[in-house]
Amino acid sequence: MDPFPPLPDYHMHTHLCKHAQGEPSEYRSAAGRLGIPEICFADHNPNPDGYDPRHRMEMDLFPDYRSMISALRDPGNPTVLFGIEADYYEGCEAHLATWLPSQEFDLVLGSVHFIEDWGFDNPAERHVWDSVDVTATWRRYFELVGRLADSGLFDVVAHLDLPKKFGHRPPEKDLREMVLPVLDRIAGAGMGIELNTSGLRKPVGEIYPSSLILSLARQRDIPICFGSDAHRPEEVGYAFPRALALAREVGYDRHLTIRDRAMSFEPLPATG
Ligand code: ZN
Ligand code: FE
Ligand code: FE
Ligand code: ZN
Repeated sequence: MDPFPPLPDYHMHTHLCKHAQGEPSEYRSAAGRLGIPEICFADHNPNPDGYDPRHRMEMDLFPDYRSMISALRDPGNPTVLFGIEADYYEGCEAHLATWLPSQEFDLVLGSVHFIEDWGFDNPAERHVWDSVDVTATWRRYFELVGRLADSGLFDVVAHLDLPKKFGHRPPEKDLREMVLPVLDRIAGAGMGIELNTSGLRKPVGEIYPSSLILSLARQRDIPICFGSDAHRPEEVGYAFPRALALAREVGYDRHLTIRDRAMSFEPLPATG
């Protein structure tokens, strides 16, 4: 078997979000066993305005999140970074524009999980897909991602084609037409995207984003990082060999690393 690629895993959660399991130290140990050099916790951000309270920590638990992660940061492998997965939605800017820079984050992932009030990637709300226009839904999703990019509040777009989670997709021609301008906006904002392997654990059975979108991102030199989106320690580094192979297939030869929200680049490790 090929050795596990030494790629940072920049997307994992903690039990504070109410739907993840295990202690942060177990996530770090799992990474250590795989030879992952660096991990970043990016739990769902708390929101003072009552947005989606069921899937995120309360604001008054945020200091616990910070201290739980900083307790892991002492010397030792792997390095532990402090991040957040912050949701973009209409009206989020007022809070995020002051709150995000006031915290000592290494990485801010930007996500869209809701279209209006519909948690379109939530298994409990999956049935709604049966009554919507799939292409129009994707178009609306990418409108929000475009605004996410324009906001300048985030470093990396998480799971860029999340609406495919349950297998709903627009025709390729429509997808290209809606994703190209968004990729231009992401590139223009100097942001990265992640190869998020959690899609392989979902009905779609595919990494986010698809090979098509990733190759279009490559043409625009949009930097990439890798994230398992682990909600359990066993998911750390999930399918990273496949993600690395996909990145290489579409022509990437480097990945981003980040500290204090400043990006650097490292060569991709060789595939097996
Ligand atoms: Zn989650
Ligand atoms: Fe997410
Ligand atoms: Fe996540
Ligand atoms: Zn996520």
